[in-house]
Amino acid sequence: MNIIVCIKQVPDTTQVRIDPKTNTLIRQGIPTIVNPYDLHALEAAVELKENHGGFITALTMGPPQAKEALKEAISAGCDGGVLLTDRAFAGSDTLATSYILSAAIRRLDADNKVDLIICGQQSIDGDTAQVGPGIAQRLNYSQLTYVSKIREMDIELGNVIVERRLENGTQVVSGRLPALITVVKEINEYRYASLANLIKAAKFEPIIWNQEYLKLDKSRIGLKGSPTTVRRIFAPPRKSSGEIVNYKSENSREIMKSIIDIISKVRQ
Ligand SMILES: Cc1cc2nc3c(=O)[nH]c(=O)nc-3n(C[C@H](O)[C@H](O)[C@H](O)COP(=O)(O)OP(=O)(O)OC[C@H]3O[C@@H](n4cnc5c(N)ncnc54)[C@H](O)[C@@H]3O)c2cc1C
Repeated sequence: MNIIVCIKQVPDTTQVRIDPKTNTLIRQGIPTIVNPYDLHALEAAVELKENHGGFITALTMGPPQAKEALKEAISAGCDGGVLLTDRAFAGSDTLATSYILSAAIRRLDADNKVDLIICGQQSIDGDTAQVGPGIAQRLNYSQLTYVSKIREMDIELGNVIVERRLENGTQVVSGRLPALITVVKEINEYRYASLANLIKAAKFEPIIWNQEYLKLDKSRIGLKGSPTTVRRIFAPPRKSSGEIVNYKSENSREIMKSIIDIISKVRQ
């Protein structure tokens, strides 16, 4: 089977700072990592390949240094990697990002028919969870989001059955292939890379595609082609830890009276 895994290089959020003047993330000089959800997407692809055979391509859009994310994908067990990079892509919102990624997937599909695309549930910086569904919609693929388990994959019948994690339970859904799934962290444990894959990753050079190669409509990419504008970014105000009262008395009347005293003080 032919699988594409979309991975995003993100700033390591433990190091993120916000520019107080522009309210945007300070990306310069911040160490980057592969979006943690995407590591689980990679692992899911490798497990499918182990059971069904096939080829896995990691795909990323980002600056030239996003090549490092693809190296990590190779060390995880991917067979190939494509880097979409161009100054014209900078500032793309989710609409533009899904347009660029889906154009690249169409090119890959023309060479080798794609069965499955796997994305993370969301990125830890943009956090919108819109890119996966955006790609599925543009390619007219079945869309299965928040997948916590791939129950069955039948390439001959062209069918996939998954479990979707919802707030109030689990939903079992089947979809036709080709499909796009987005995965939650609970789907698997990300394994450490083997020595052989680490050596392969060290020598790896990605295929690089730009705007011209993909013949993209310039009015639909980059900052100018992005209808979303970020008006303000702010950290939510810290909640106070509250007051802890240790009651020595076991008399419920006394306890109630002291609670009423506390509430009336707060209301004054
Ligand atoms: C006006 C504007 C300007 C912006 N400028 C920038 C900028 O310059 N640089 C920047 O990094 N972000 C920028 N952003 C944020 C940008 O919209 C998102 O980072 C990007 O579109 C992906 O959305 P997300 O992070 O919410 O991903 P989500 O939708 O939360 O990601 C879900 C999944 O989609 C896949 N995915 C997401 N992004 C990529 C990608 N790039 N390559 C491959 N797979 C991917 C991954 O599998 C990921 O787990 C900008 C946003 C706006 C509105």
